[in-house]
Amino acid sequence: MNEDENEMDEEPKQIKITPIKHGTVIDHIRKAQAMKVLRILGLREDDIDSIVSIAMNVDSSLGKKDIVKVEDMELIEEDLDKISLVAPEATVNIIRDYKVIDKHRVQLPEMVKGIVRCKNKNCISNQNEPVISEFKVIGEYPVTLKCEYCEREMKGEEISENVI
Ligand SMILES: [Zn+2]
Repeated sequence: MNEDENEMDEEPKQIKITPIKHGTVIDHIRKAQAMKVLRILGLREDDIDSIVSIAMNVDSSLGKKDIVKVEDMELIEEDLDKISLVAPEATVNIIRDYKVIDKHRVQLPEMVKGIVRCKNKNCISNQNEPVISEFKVIGEYPVTLKCEYCEREMKGEEISENVI
């Protein structure tokens, strides 16, 4: 019997993420940001078929991190832009047949269009005009956006709360 498999009376210090066959693994999410990533992706109990696993406070060489695993779903560019707003240092791994076929860091775009709603209710982008919200990214830590129409600045929680 392998001693390592005997977990009696031992608190596992690290959660091992089991491999998935197809899907997306979002790694290196800063500690305690996993729920925000889920929110950004719109993965709610009601409208999801995929199996989603979350590991929070996982030990890594760079400190604690969160990991989100979404089975049978490959994220598209628009999803990644959204993720970068709440987890700018996340790594995205696309998995097919248990192999990582694509791995890259999310990149904070220079401009964010049509993803976030301006917090200023009187902003022209919130009226019934056919105007798409548009923000310039003016800060990375924390992510800070500035509305192109009303110049209102938004950061952190305000951004994740206003993701469309
Ligand atoms: Zn605005």
